Amino acid sequence: MFFGTEYKNFEEEGLVEMIVNMSEKATEEQIAHVVERIREAGYQPHLTRGTERTIVAAVGSGGRRHEIEALSAAPGVEAVVPIAQPFKLVSRQIKPERSVIDVAGVRIGGDAVVVIAGPCSVESHEQLLTTAIAVKKAGASMLRGGAYKPRTSPYDFQGLGIEALKILREVREQTGLPVVTEVMSTEDVDVICEHADMLQVGARNMQNFALLRRLAMIDKPVLLKRGPSATVKEWLLAAEYLLSGGNSRVVLCERGIKTFETETRNTMDLAAVALVRELSHLPVIADPSHGTGKQSLIAAVSRAAVAIGADGLIVEVHPCPERALSDGPQSLDFAGFEKVMRGLCEPLRQLAPSTPEGFALGAQA
Ligand code: PEP
Ligand code: MN
Repeated sequence: MFFGTEYKNFEEEGLVEMIVNMSEKATEEQIAHVVERIREAGYQPHLTRGTERTIVAAVGSGGRRHEIEALSAAPGVEAVVPIAQPFKLVSRQIKPERSVIDVAGVRIGGDAVVVIAGPCSVESHEQLLTTAIAVKKAGASMLRGGAYKPRTSPYDFQGLGIEALKILREVREQTGLPVVTEVMSTEDVDVICEHADMLQVGARNMQNFALLRRLAMIDKPVLLKRGPSATVKEWLLAAEYLLSGGNSRVVLCERGIKTFETETRNTMDLAAVALVRELSHLPVIADPSHGTGKQSLIAAVSRAAVAIGADGLIVEVHPCPERALSDGPQSLDFAGFEKVMRGLCEPLRQLAPSTPEGFALGAQA
């Protein structure tokens, strides 16, 4: 099993939670009984209603495990199984069907690939509005733009703060595009919630647990970027903070990780997109801009991300990348973005035939 070793440690400490799979025919009373018994055994019940069956998870530590195991004999219960991974609520074991997250009417995780585009930083009303109009025309369905910028150097542009939030809200009203913007501190959560449709946790903050706990209590979806040095397990456990604290509207975002490679800004870990889809029901999108740091690679990596199963993309676009106050080298101009969007509609390459042309199987026999 993938997380076998860690799982064993959890089990030894009595921290393994379990799921109770109800049978397809289980009645509401039988489900309510199981919920009640889980509570009595010292765990927190967590109900997931699928299209065919209901799953009740026993979450928490220190409960009486044998009492949950005994529920296999309760009416309406099909099976009681331990959760194999250290992350629970984000896991597909608890919710086999994929989640679709609604962001002000845009559905992320459904059949259609959602493209979020916009500048790295909001610089002015005109800059954001012209960008929003251009990306919408090219097919984007959400707008991005940073108001609070996490910059490696304290001397670099730090974002326009509240002024940028106001611009984001105005442009959302003018174009109808829902907006996502980064939250860096618990202090800014309320004001950002008033202005944006989705809050982004940046890569550098993926394990800011105080921030995650605060965002677990808001009524807005969260875009959770993978930390540059985070494993997939750490990333999913960060998402678990949000779900266990009460916010299940989470979209994951792969944005490249640190490796020994220096020709690209980060190494885009596309296999992680496929892996996360195996392990979790949460939608996952890809950020080819930060993932590569190079305008010239955005189109190819976007196509690859969609081909591997990404539910969407987030792409940096600027009216004049050479003048951008942040991330110019990886930002596309409007024509470049349109080309990326066109590329996403083209079919993938054909497979070569398995035998050379003109060679008939068995011809030499
Ligand atoms: C950004 O989206 O502009 C950003 C800073 O992203 P990340 O946190 O992935 O570096
Ligand atoms: Mn950026």
